[in-house]
Amino acid sequence: MNTNQTREILLGKQKRLQRRVSMIDADFAQERDDDFEELAVESENDEVLSALQKEAVLELEQITKALHLLDCGKYGKCLDCGKPIEPDRLRVLPYTTLCKRCAT
Ligand SMILES: [Zn+2]
Repeated sequence: MNTNQTREILLGKQKRLQRRVSMIDADFAQERDDDFEELAVESENDEVLSALQKEAVLELEQITKALHLLDCGKYGKCLDCGKPIEPDRLRVLPYTTLCKRCAT
């Protein structure tokens, strides 16, 4: 996979995640019903949403890091041991910064 393809994949993923985060933000900002039962359901929803939000934010951070590494030509190398990251691993996790061995 060449650099441009990788960048496109990362930017596409970044866009999708940013959209997800802002949608969740919008949902949190909505006015809440005062009815008790409704509130219980909503707080359960909130937990799911905030977990999703956290996940998306974490992924976004990794993507930003990967894009930066791409820019300085260090993309695809394990940040821990410096060895190249396995291509099949990069295909599944294009923003990973660790090789299989260091990630486990
Ligand atoms: Zn490694």
